[in-house]
Amino acid sequence: ATYIANASWFDLPPAKGVLVSFEDVSHLEHAGQMRRDFVANVSHELRTPLTSLMGFIETLRGPARDDSEARARFLDIMQREAERMERLVKDLLSLNRVESEERVRPTSEVDLAALCRSVVHTMTPLADSAGVTLVKDLPESLVAPADEDQLRQVLTNLIENAVKYGGSGGEVVLRLQGSPREAAMRGPAAILSVSDKGPGIPLVHIPRLTERFYRVDSHRSRVVGGTGLGLAIVKHIINRHRGRLKIESTQGQGTCFTVILPLSV
Ligand code: ADP
Repeated sequence: ATYIANASWFDLPPAKGVLVSFEDVSHLEHAGQMRRDFVANVSHELRTPLTSLMGFIETLRGPARDDSEARARFLDIMQREAERMERLVKDLLSLNRVESEERVRPTSEVDLAALCRSVVHTMTPLADSAGVTLVKDLPESLVAPADEDQLRQVLTNLIENAVKYGGSGGEVVLRLQGSPREAAMRGPAAILSVSDKGPGIPLVHIPRLTERFYRVDSHRSRVVGGTGLGLAIVKHIINRHRGRLKIESTQGQGTCFTVILPLSV
């Protein structure tokens, strides 16, 4: 803890009615440092594609002006870089929105089983293109107080990660179960899990996965179009639902992300 006090107060002669107050400001310093780190990270993430775009614009104006083959190739790269910036801005806005809503507990009744079926339907083309089979293990229906759009985002992010990092040609399983009494929730809960049979995540990285911009392998994340914000968004949404996120991984065998949601408000 850091205590800040005006040292000159101690030079004052003792006087009745003088109150010296000490305030623990370490949490403010920590919050300030986190904000500065975040701004530095965002700037870096935006600058990389921007520098590349500016380089290509210059080349297209100069040496490659009359080279139609190079022009087509450069335009493809420029489009990918612009799309990367677009994804980043979209995820930053999502993160901002979920953070600002975190204190408001969602109360709408959502059928999680129907939501899972709908997400799997939407994600199947992505899985097919990666040669991954999406498998569902769901009850007929399971209703929970939730924000449907936000839970859709949680499932989409987790399935997208399982497809992207979980090894091609494998299987990704989305499972939903009800639990009449879940110790972590002190009551009934819904247990949602997304598991893959990919290379897994080394144990040292697991506690930091939900930090903004934390990646196990930055190069791989960039190649598959990651922004490093997906799991940070997931964590905030689960916090808003007063739920828990459990991450289990065995290297060489696969990873399982489990979301536990309370069934009563
Ligand atoms: P990204 O946009 O980089 O995918 P995320 O916040 O979604 O960011 O994930 C953070 C990191 O966690 C990823 O960069 C990846 O290294 C790792 N990761 C996430 N899901 C999996 C998974 N199913 N298997 C292996 N690694 C994963």
